[in-house]
Amino acid sequence: MEREQTDKPKETLKNQKQEPKKPKDYSKGKIYGITDVETRETYIGSTITSLSERMSKHKLHSECSSKIIIEKDNYEYYVIEYYPCKTKEQLRQREEWHRKRCQNCVNMVRAFITEDERKQYKAEWFKKRYEISYSYPLQQLFMTEIELIEKDEHKKEMKKQHDNTYRQKHSAKIAEWKANYFQEHKEEIYAYRKQRLEQDEEAKQKNREYQAEWMRNKRATYTDEQRKADSQKAIERNNKNKEAIQARRAEKIVCECGQEITRGSKRLHTQSKRHKEYLENLKST
Ligand SMILES: [Zn+2]
Repeated sequence: MEREQTDKPKETLKNQKQEPKKPKDYSKGKIYGITDVETRETYIGSTITSLSERMSKHKLHSECSSKIIIEKDNYEYYVIEYYPCKTKEQLRQREEWHRKRCQNCVNMVRAFITEDERKQYKAEWFKKRYEISYSYPLQQLFMTEIELIEKDEHKKEMKKQHDNTYRQKHSAKIAEWKANYFQEHKEEIYAYRKQRLEQDEEAKQKNREYQAEWMRNKRATYTDEQRKADSQKAIERNNKNKEAIQARRAEKIVCECGQEITRGSKRLHTQSKRHKEYLENLKST
């Protein structure tokens, strides 16, 4: 009866506390160690929470094999490796990878050491631990070259996936940023392009190909709306340069038929009697 009464409020509290589960963030994955300072017995685990949070859980209900170390209360805990990944399984595999290596370390556990030796050992261990935690020299400590490459590739893959999702998520923002950047640095960009095209024959050729390709693509997807917008733009451009255009059209030139005309009347002139006669003569001779 007594027992039931103490149990009941606990149950309700537990029920109240239940919230919808958040998806777990394995990008915060890490492998950690708990090592008995004296015996060097080491427990290896993995977590996605902070290490102090994880440790407080170990202390609270230490039914796992870390118990033997924690109960003696003479231990250090430390991050062996930060291992951002996607799934629990990946993290567990990595933990296992370290655990296998650690069993070798257990062989080095000494039954007895003098106080001086212990100090020396601790200093060395501290140095090692510091290196492991902060500058990632696991490389020298545990990893073979192939494992290093694998680790590198894992990191690259994670970064790539992250970058891709970032790009998808923020594509509008990135486009806006690019457009702004272009507007702000327009003159520099144009000047640079111009200079490059003048100096570099290969760049010139590439640019030609690029423009041709761009035209092809544009034609293939040209809509009436775009066509209207473009001709509107052309009209605006003409208005802006009206005087220069008019001056050019008024320029006097001599046609191949010998008639002096203005540049602007060239098309009309090709329909004239004199010009047509000239062309006919050209054919018959
Ligand atoms: Zn003519």
